[in-house]
Amino acid sequence: MAMLQVNNVEVRYQGVILVLRGVTLEIDQGHMVCLLGANGAGKSTTLKAISGLLYTEEGEVTDGSITFEGERIDHKHCQEIVARGIVLVPEGRKVLEHLTVEENLLAGALYRKDMDGIKNDLEKVYHYFPRLKELRQHTSGYCSGGELQMMVVGRGLMGHPKLMLLDEASMGLAPFLVREIYEIIRRLNAEERITMLVVEQNARAALEFCDYGYVMENGRVVMDGPAAKLRDNEDVKEFYMGLTEVGRKSYREVKHYRRRKRWLG
Ligand code: ATP
Repeated sequence: MAMLQVNNVEVRYQGVILVLRGVTLEIDQGHMVCLLGANGAGKSTTLKAISGLLYTEEGEVTDGSITFEGERIDHKHCQEIVARGIVLVPEGRKVLEHLTVEENLLAGALYRKDMDGIKNDLEKVYHYFPRLKELRQHTSGYCSGGELQMMVVGRGLMGHPKLMLLDEASMGLAPFLVREIYEIIRRLNAEERITMLVVEQNARAALEFCDYGYVMENGRVVMDGPAAKLRDNEDVKEFYMGLTEVGRKSYREVKHYRRRKRWLG
């Protein structure tokens, strides 16, 4: 059985705005999977639904189910979901700017009581992100975009996740930093066995580092398959990687989206 199963999930905001229209996806333990799609496709909403955070925006799962390690979590409180091992690293790199880097990292362990485990995980964060160790006593507000991204991933690790949900880690970062951060995320996946679900607009980076991908459009999954196959798919190249024979096309420029194959497996 898959570690995470999202079955035909429908999400509404404020009781009326239907945003997810039956999303189905699954992730096996130990895999690194990406969720691709244009602005507004519903990627962040999917992550919020899994992590129990929809209520903060007056949203709720109104149909379908979400199962983690065999148990329903779709109407559980976010704190219980974190305790089960699902940690969301939200987009936007928000940190408590007046606190130090280390204090921000420790904020990720707020609900834990195992002091030895917290200490070990802090050392683990510094092992994977040596730059954060150098900056541990620095005020977070002075950190660069790349350092902030490392910090929010590190803060997520302090929750000791089995499954990490990572929203737009590459946004606004220079390509070499995107690569550096994804290389570390891939190592965390391989060495620490943390299962990863990565939301990205940067399809190129995501498909290079992930094993498998889902593509969302208008609140639905329209395509999925192994990353290598998605990389070679003409629609993915055209809409999400900007690679076409006639030059870069935006999604809007193409009126008829030919769905070649929903399943590429
Ligand atoms: P982006 O990359 O721009 O964040 P996304 O694929 O993550 O896009 P979502 O943020 O999930 O998409 O948004 C999907 C749709 O839901 C959009 O049309 C958005 O306007 C709408 N939406 C998101 N949050 C809310 C909210 N709190 N209330 C009402 N509508 C919302």
